[in-house]
Amino acid sequence: MSFKAEYIWIDGTEPTAQLRSKTRILADGAELPVWGFDGSSTNQAKGTSSDCQLKPVFTCPDPLRDPAKDVLVLCEVLNVDGTPHESNTRALLTPIAEQFADQESWFGIEQEYTLIKDGRPLGFPENGFPAPQGPYYCAAGADYVFGRDIVEEHLDACLTAGLKVSGINAEVMPGQWEFQIGPAGPEEAADHIWIARYLFLRIGEKYGVHFSIDPKPVKGDWNGAGAHTNFSTKAMREGYDPIITACEALGEKFLEHVRAYGDGVEDRLTGAHETAPWSEFSYGVSNRAASIRLPWQVEIERSGYLEDRRPNANMDPYVVTRMIVNTCCTALEK
Ligand code: ADP
Ligand code: MN
Ligand code: MN
Ligand code: MN
Ligand code: MN
Repeated sequence: MSFKAEYIWIDGTEPTAQLRSKTRILADGAELPVWGFDGSSTNQAKGTSSDCQLKPVFTCPDPLRDPAKDVLVLCEVLNVDGTPHESNTRALLTPIAEQFADQESWFGIEQEYTLIKDGRPLGFPENGFPAPQGPYYCAAGADYVFGRDIVEEHLDACLTAGLKVSGINAEVMPGQWEFQIGPAGPEEAADHIWIARYLFLRIGEKYGVHFSIDPKPVKGDWNGAGAHTNFSTKAMREGYDPIITACEALGEKFLEHVRAYGDGVEDRLTGAHETAPWSEFSYGVSNRAASIRLPWQVEIERSGYLEDRRPNANMDPYVVTRMIVNTCCTALEK
């Protein structure tokens, strides 16, 4: 007997990487081997020396096949000499996560996305626009909610896969939704985000609906799509001063962070639509117009976590978690 292993990797598409995958049939009980692919077809190699390696790093049941035996296999991309490929941002996260492991970083990532069919978001008419934003966020009812079947199917798939999905909600723009992953450690949260994105792309195929992480899918007075990144260390979960220390540290490096928070972040962080302008740093309690929001319970309980509201929906979670751990844990170590 055999099982199916879907090897998944992140390609070299600029400026926003795409997911790729292919299937390997393995004998029952077989270990997951290192595999390879043609990097010249994924913007990861020249045709003259095109081989890249796939190193399995995270495995879970495949909810799209037989979850009792088939698996999804998230891989890192390596060069043939075994070194990390330049597109492999996970390999940069691992040493930082290890360096600060004693601080016990947790992440909760809110992945917003837009369901696109025939070139426009679900709920948008063929000509013109739907009624203005207001009634759609967390709504119920066919006038306001578009795509719930596919969203529910995705949620169930994430749960079957064993991902640490913590919730879903309909968003401010029609056809826009969110799922949350976490709390989880840096690599775990990022791996789960990538697999959850992959599952959405695959489920969308069945419906002819594209899962888009475009940060600004509709120009004008329509919300963009972000990936608010909630973060805490053990010290932050136990006290208030460390939370302020982390916020101040993020302020000192704010431009470096914003530049790494996803392509087109300047177009989304305009200061409108519950964002802070990308060129200014601020933090505040309950403030959805700040770069960093401290949830109101955090001020009352004098402990908890911060929410970095700046990352775009199209951010690379390996990059964002690495930068936040590096900046905040370095400051908290002092
Ligand atoms: P919002 O109110 O901004 O919409 P959400 O409920 O969508 O927030 O997402 C908050 C995320 O933060 C969830 O994924 C949750 O699991 C995560 N979270 C909760 N507590 C912590 C913590 N101490 N550290 C990091 N993440 C946390
Ligand atoms: Mn071939
Ligand atoms: Mn949310
Ligand atoms: Mn949201
Ligand atoms: Mn949020």
